[in-house]
Amino acid sequence: MKKVKEVRRYCKYCRKHTLHKVSQLKLTRKRGALKLSSRKFERIMKGYGGFPRPKTMKSSRHGVKTTKRVTLLYKCSECNRITPSIGIKAKKFSFVEK
Ligand SMILES: [Zn+2]
Repeated sequence: MKKVKEVRRYCKYCRKHTLHKVSQLKLTRKRGALKLSSRKFERIMKGYGGFPRPKTMKSSRHGVKTTKRVTLLYKCSECNRITPSIGIKAKKFSFVEK
């Protein structure tokens, strides 16, 4: 899927159509090492026994997922507020220049 970087759309804060800059949501933050869930996970992994989560889709007969959900962020050029869109499913995603 290809999308343009700038688009005119309705801003609910300005209550009118303004120019929005489109960007893709990317999660870069790691999970907290001291959170209860990660401590629990480490405790389980420590001794005997296998991995505590079910095997990935790859090893099952159902095959691998081929699409990924892309969340787009629209930043208003007037109030600089960001509105996220509902994720679209796409195999490939890229921005194109107009
Ligand atoms: Zn706005």
